[in-house]
Amino acid sequence: MSKPRVVISACLNGLAYRYDGSTVSDKDVDEIKKKFNLINVCPEVGINLGIPRKTIRLVSTEGRLEAIQKDTGLNITQELVDFSENFLTQLSEIDGFILKAKSPSCGVKSAKVFSGIEGQILKKEDGLFAQTVRKIFPFLPLIDEGRLKNPELRWEFLSKTFLHFNFRKATKSISSLVEFHSRAKYMFMSLAQKDLRAMGKILAAHRRDNFPETAKKYQRAFQGILSRPIRKSNLINAFTHMFGYISPRISPEEKAHFLNLLEKYRAGDIDFVVIIELLRSYGLRFQLTYLLNQYLLNLSS
Ligand code: SF4
Repeated sequence: MSKPRVVISACLNGLAYRYDGSTVSDKDVDEIKKKFNLINVCPEVGINLGIPRKTIRLVSTEGRLEAIQKDTGLNITQELVDFSENFLTQLSEIDGFILKAKSPSCGVKSAKVFSGIEGQILKKEDGLFAQTVRKIFPFLPLIDEGRLKNPELRWEFLSKTFLHFNFRKATKSISSLVEFHSRAKYMFMSLAQKDLRAMGKILAAHRRDNFPETAKKYQRAFQGILSRPIRKSNLINAFTHMFGYISPRISPEEKAHFLNLLEKYRAGDIDFVVIIELLRSYGLRFQLTYLLNQYLLNLSS
């Protein structure tokens, strides 16, 4: 079956690649893994540090980050950066990254940075591989197993990964791109309404025989919108617009109930999933195919 292609830290995918020869068992990662075709990566094994191996520290040296093996003093910064760049530039058709938290190579804003090899912790940063991911694929979703435990961050990661996967499948013709744009409308609205309008204009300006140019412009805009975070206010705006299809068909009491739930979501008293499921239920009840086809109501299922 066709699934999004996601790069994963090998130690999160059952391989005993950690410095002490262990692997990582995480039920949230195990659950989400089933949705993807996975590509393993281990930068430290990739540069032949071996298993087991001495641990690495990220050290801040004159504003630069260096990866140094604590016990041997070996500086492996360049090897890790070269490996990361080679690995990432050879990838094609990738939709996201799940990396191991706290690692000096893979950590996502969670790798400790020291003032010196025996120094103090200064801050937490991306590991060297994660930094290179952001440089080469700044628009692709990137998460670690710690953030996967947060339902909203997990949903955002899943939504964006599937959105990118669906976009890749839609770049074959103008009709498939138009259909993708239509199904992604409320997902885009939850990211940036201005960008949504600009993308619509790119498609509207399409003329026969210039599909490659239209696709290129749309791809640039799509990558821009994908790199934006989902904001609660934008998500509520998208929910409100979707509710516009439903409100003329329901009773004043049902309408008041929905708006009350939306306020509870705004106040942080209920989960966004409640709103999504209620919209989906109305979509099913009134056979609103346009709403039911929206990625916003389907991507996380
Ligand atoms: S965190 Fe990254 S570098 Fe460390 S063992 Fe896992 S995959 Fe390898």
